[in-house]
Amino acid sequence: MTSIVDPRAPEFPEGGLTRFANAREAALALRPDTPVYCFRPAQLEADANAFRQVFPGRTAYAVKTNPHPLIIDRLAQIGVDAFDVASPREFRLARAAAPKAALFYMHPVKAGLAIREALADYGIRHLAIDHENEAAKILREARAAGVDASELTLFVRLATKSHAAYELSRKFGAAPGHAVELLQRVHKIGAQAGLCFHVGSQVEEPDAYAAALKAAQWVRARAGVPIAALDIGGGYPARYGVDRRRKSAPTPTPADLIPRILRAVERTGFADVPLVAEPGRAIVARSLSVIVRVLLRKGQRLYINDGIWASLSDSWTGKLTLPVRLIPEPGRVRAKGDPKKTVPFRIMGATCDSVDILSRPFWLPETVTTGDWIEVGHIGAYSLSLRTDFNGLYPDSFVEVDAPFRA
Ligand SMILES: *Cc1c(COP(=O)(O)O)cnc(C)c1O
Repeated sequence: MTSIVDPRAPEFPEGGLTRFANAREAALALRPDTPVYCFRPAQLEADANAFRQVFPGRTAYAVKTNPHPLIIDRLAQIGVDAFDVASPREFRLARAAAPKAALFYMHPVKAGLAIREALADYGIRHLAIDHENEAAKILREARAAGVDASELTLFVRLATKSHAAYELSRKFGAAPGHAVELLQRVHKIGAQAGLCFHVGSQVEEPDAYAAALKAAQWVRARAGVPIAALDIGGGYPARYGVDRRRKSAPTPTPADLIPRILRAVERTGFADVPLVAEPGRAIVARSLSVIVRVLLRKGQRLYINDGIWASLSDSWTGKLTLPVRLIPEPGRVRAKGDPKKTVPFRIMGATCDSVDILSRPFWLPETVTTGDWIEVGHIGAYSLSLRTDFNGLYPDSFVEVDAPFRA
């Protein structure tokens, strides 16, 4: 039996995960009472390649989005040769999968010891800063590790504004005037100067990138130092479900968004600068779904065996409507209603915490009942990495599924 493996175990079973044609078959065969992740390697490959086909620069997968070896190994196999990493554990994971990959250490605030490991043990030469003291910290560690400043590219992270589902500029980034000083300082200490920004996550409008590029243009012109690379960060959105009560334009795909960003790159005079992007969500979101079970139906509320402390916290933070598909338990008496009519159900998470209620409903047939399974699609981003042991409920089972998820 190889369908259930501990993803924290150092190695997977020889034969790999048990394969099913689709999640329905997996649910009916395994009848799981705890969540089961359905991994779709073909989807992962397609989405990673779709991004790389439209982005001419270097694609550095953001490891934090989903650091599972199933994901990282597959990305390395299809030739992803750069990773955005933020900690020694992430260095190790990326290196284990892709020994020759370039690692970009783009967290602007790092521990001294982690910087030393990055420089001395992992050959990392690309790092982000948003303050002069971070530059001094890196320089000190470089000296201790015997690494010359000229080998380093220090990316000055710009503060940006956007309406992303997740706004990150409140935490990181230098204001334009400060960024000018930082670039000049990087140049003076003999390192290569780069510019970077990260406009947020699930960013639906290209204007966020265009505005950041405009700021980068201004900073570059004032600083008057050579710019070795421009890293446009992550944030490219994935297509989730549709909440019929809300009007919204369809989410752009990388094929829609990237060409528009590239036009802004040209307009702002960066066409001659090597580009890096750090996509996470756009590459992995669709590569995993999770089969959850309805533990109890109470009117329009469904109590399920997963929630915000396990696989679904990202949808809670980002107020995402997740696409779902009902897998009725055969032989159960259906709840009253029309099996073809879908209605919104409030989703109550598995833990005892009263915060553990999803911020958006699942749209399901009226007839859903206790004991049914629900396949929740597109949870590949920020699910496995954010699982907790809270209440002793840590989902940890994986199968492989061939068919793409369909709501
Ligand atoms: C989280 C993060 C990413 C990935 O973001 P996505 O929205 O998943 O694409 C990329 N770069 C940095 C610096 C990040 O913090």
